[in-house]
Amino acid sequence: MSKVLIIGCGGVAGVVINKCCQNSEVFSEICVASRTKSKCDAIAAELTPKTSTKITTAQVDADNVDEVIALIKSYQPDLVMNIALPYQDLTIMDACLACGVNYMDTANYEPENTEDQKWRAIYEKRCKEKGFSAYFDYSWQWAYKEKFEQAGLTALLGCGFDPGVTQAYCAYALKHEFDSIDTIDILDCNGGDHGYPFATNFNPEINLREVSSPGSYWENGKWVEIPAMSIKREYNFEAVGDKDMYLLHHEEIESLAQNIPGVKRIRFFMTFGQSYLTHMNCLENVGLLSTTPINFDGKEIVPIQFLKALLPDPASLGPRTKGKTNIGCIFTGTKDGKPKSYYIYNICDHEECYKEVGSQAISYTTGVPAVCGAMLMLNGKWIKAGVHTVEEFDPDPFIELLAKHGLPHKDTTEPVLVD
Ligand code: NDP
Repeated sequence: MSKVLIIGCGGVAGVVINKCCQNSEVFSEICVASRTKSKCDAIAAELTPKTSTKITTAQVDADNVDEVIALIKSYQPDLVMNIALPYQDLTIMDACLACGVNYMDTANYEPENTEDQKWRAIYEKRCKEKGFSAYFDYSWQWAYKEKFEQAGLTALLGCGFDPGVTQAYCAYALKHEFDSIDTIDILDCNGGDHGYPFATNFNPEINLREVSSPGSYWENGKWVEIPAMSIKREYNFEAVGDKDMYLLHHEEIESLAQNIPGVKRIRFFMTFGQSYLTHMNCLENVGLLSTTPINFDGKEIVPIQFLKALLPDPASLGPRTKGKTNIGCIFTGTKDGKPKSYYIYNICDHEECYKEVGSQAISYTTGVPAVCGAMLMLNGKWIKAGVHTVEEFDPDPFIELLAKHGLPHKDTTEPVLVD
């Protein structure tokens, strides 16, 4: 019987809230708090008649630490789930520390304003030292390690699918399938079709920033950075078919490089259709992906935020999206002195997700792991003072819960490898 504060009420939070309400024996009370309270009220009104979870709602600007502190103090949750945006990670972590409550999120910190000079100086130093230029990285949240340790609190970072389940797959492979892992390829395939010429599957601003940045991978102890979308492979995904996939920078590579001993190479690939890429290039070329404010008709606007207002709301894609996702990890390494390869993956059906919780599979594959991670924090299995990523915990109870709550895995020791 636990009380959980959920911050954010967008596409992923919709799944989290639905799943909490399906599991009232764990989530006896939830408070849904977000910037736009009407969205929280709408989902509370929809679910209250169907669940014994007690749902309350609140308005909060999570960029403001004091507002989050006041909310936590008045609600007294056992756990805070940050399902808002990566921009709010640090303020919510600060509030959790101030109130002595455990924290979790689904994506690592990135600043909203990348022109902020104080942030930029640290960012540019990090680009030079580490060798990758993505706006997001773990350093900001890892800097909270000691504070969380000293407070005896747990912060679980990046507990969605990727990051999240992909790291649990790595921990699982290391625990059960290998003595040592040499290479990891994370493959994220979305075979879904929503029928729009162009839309993003989750928050457009975060998604387009990620996809339009240079790609990078970890090899022999260092980062190798490449121009955006310059490494392409074709792969035949079970239940989806042949897809083009492109090497991207992705946040879990950074923590896996630290936590998988002796790993020689880690890459991340995501599938994109040609039409998506053509649209994205065009939007980038005309400046609509820029995060730098411009003056328009006497008003300051941020181009990518303006674009977000024009694009379909990811939460609205649910009823239109058909097809499946297939996300997983391919490993090579050794077991009992012999070379071995292994592929573990999940296939998820957009329409099934919509039937169950009213959202498409991208939100579903993010929201379900967040809820399973929350369950393990609430039952004490994933409690360890400090700031941790998913692969630092025992993967077995997590993988068991994922299967129970809608994301079972498949595996094979004879995968087609990516060259
Ligand atoms: P949405 O844009 O749909 O929802 C974000 C929500 O956060 C909205 O309800 C928004 O409020 C709220 N919010 C934004 N700013 C604030 C603020 N300052 N204070 C309070 N609430 C705020 O995003 P998604 O649901 O698609 O994504 C949620 C998170 O999941 C993101 O961090 C994303 O990066 C992550 N993600 C992780 C994945 C993984 O596999 N690990 C995959 C996909 C997403 P409002 O309604 O007012 O705009």
